Amino acid sequence: MTPIERVRNALTSLGLKAIDARLEGLLEQAAKTEPSYGDFLDEVLACEVDARRSRYLRARLQLAHLPFVKTFEQFEFAFQPSIDERQIRELRTLRFVHEASNVILLGPPGVGKTHLSVALAEAAIQAGFGAYFITTHDLVTDLGRAYREGRLDRRMRIYLAPKILVIDEMGYLPLDELGATIFFQLVSARYERASIILTSNKSYGDWGSIFGDPIIATAILDRLLHHSTTINIRGESYRLKDRRRAGLLPRAEDQQPPPLPAASAADAPSSRGKRGTSL
Ligand code: ADP
Ligand code: MG
Repeated sequence: MTPIERVRNALTSLGLKAIDARLEGLLEQAAKTEPSYGDFLDEVLACEVDARRSRYLRARLQLAHLPFVKTFEQFEFAFQPSIDERQIRELRTLRFVHEASNVILLGPPGVGKTHLSVALAEAAIQAGFGAYFITTHDLVTDLGRAYREGRLDRRMRIYLAPKILVIDEMGYLPLDELGATIFFQLVSARYERASIILTSNKSYGDWGSIFGDPIIATAILDRLLHHSTTINIRGESYRLKDRRRAGLLPRAEDQQPPPLPAASAADAPSSRGKRGTSL
């Protein structure tokens, strides 16, 4: 057996797949640049460490059940001037996760509540925290079923374990009495232990109508808001902006000379139709 064959066998039995995959490249590079023994070892091991880190992050991202991956870089703050960027910068430090404090994003549909909550969850995952995303409806349905089957405590653990729980779309549908009680239990159990990021189209004053009972609504708000940041977004829907832009194109074309072939492909009715349905 040649030394390289022995190295390959060792890499296989140690499960160092990333080094195995890049072995030839690493050796060729070293032959050219002649690094010190220390630098060479460092580079070889970094190759495996990086691969493991990205595998681990991918797994964490999958576990989080994010509806899409959107980042802060993809968010146009200029479109939503009611958002205080300093507040967002502070949240991006993830101090709120360390402090187990909550983030509540309020505003009408389409203003970026889900986008920003996903971006925060993604940043936290990158920093090594566990996150889980669920809509209020799915959460209450799931826990309601667990309650009826006598396994609420066990099921609740799924929503208690991650350092960040994103609860999306609170308030689109009212909760029944069981739903409200379960929601209260969840918020109480996470209180001062782990963060909740919550989005809602209802202002706090309207929460009584979500829970059907002002007393439970007050009890939930009390715990949720004690350590929290509220981001109140007042502005136009980004979805509407996209649609409006798409809708305006034909009128703009009417007043202008025929577009060049390259531009007309992007403006074709079929692409507009597709964009419309995907919104
Ligand atoms: P909400 O949860 O408030 O209803 P979303 O976060 O789902 O709204 O936003 C709707 C769509 O518009 C998403 O695809 C989102 O990425 C995008 N979006 C919303 N606001 C912005 C923004 N200011 N910049 C870039 N994309 C945005
Ligand atoms: Mg949303």
